[in-house]
Amino acid sequence: TNTLLAGKRGLIMGLANDKSIAWGIAKACADAGAELAFSYYGDALKKRVEPLVAEIGSDFLVECNVGDQASLDALFAALKDRWGKIDFVVHAIGFSDKNELRGRYVDTSLSNFTMTMDISVYSFTAVCKRAADLMPDGGSLLTLTYYGAEQVMPHYNVMGVAKAALEASVKYIAEDLGKDGIRVNAISAGPIKTLASSGIGDFRYILKWNELNSPLRRNVTQEEVGKAALFLLSDLGTATTGETLHVDAGYHIVGMKAVDAPDI
Ligand code: NAD
Repeated sequence: TNTLLAGKRGLIMGLANDKSIAWGIAKACADAGAELAFSYYGDALKKRVEPLVAEIGSDFLVECNVGDQASLDALFAALKDRWGKIDFVVHAIGFSDKNELRGRYVDTSLSNFTMTMDISVYSFTAVCKRAADLMPDGGSLLTLTYYGAEQVMPHYNVMGVAKAALEASVKYIAEDLGKDGIRVNAISAGPIKTLASSGIGDFRYILKWNELNSPLRRNVTQEEVGKAALFLLSDLGTATTGETLHVDAGYHIVGMKAVDAPDI
């Protein structure tokens, strides 16, 4: 427990269950004294999410489909009503048709390309715009990305293209909002088993490959992503914006298979 976010209020978007990266970040923020609001998507998840939110001592839970601009408006209206202003937002949301998270990228359909970009990229821009209106004293905005934005990874396909666009939008939004004291960053997390990642083809193989070949020779945990998020969301990170911070056991610096890595 620490006081890095004492007196600060933030919104966590993308909590689906206790495996969610959003949950790792929420726990780190709560531990640091933040007061938290949560958004989730779809009635089916409500039963999962409600007890987690309660566990953290919050009763501020709003349903929001980021593909629906009116739903986003309602979420930020609720924040404004209850708190007036906010200090940070965590956007831990991505979605694509899992039938296109395998096979060839070149076969991506226009409808899934557009939907993936809408939910996984534009939604962060839409959130930042609304959040900035509630940040008169500055703030910190954070999204989640993956190395598949930078290098070709098996099966990541259209999501890799979307994450590349997301990382570029982090830079543009950082410039737009920097003058208002609002920082905008991404964490590029190593692979973690979650609801979203289990839709990716051969995900277990990807996890094993990262474990055997990352400099730290292991995978990362949602708690570790939470600790890195705490840096970016708190006053530890006041000079960092427009950044994609790799929290991946160092995997992004690796050029080829480790000499000690067995065949898998
Ligand atoms: P998760 O399934 O727990 O979270 C994904 C969330 O997106 C869910 O809460 C889901 O409800 C939400 N979502 C999907 N469509 C939505 C919509 N229309 N409106 C609102 N919310 C919607 O999985 P996760 O792995 O924790 O994913 C969180 C973020 O982390 C994603 O952006 C993902 O791409 C990113 N990420 C994950 C990994 C990994 O290996 N798990 C690695 C790097 C980055």
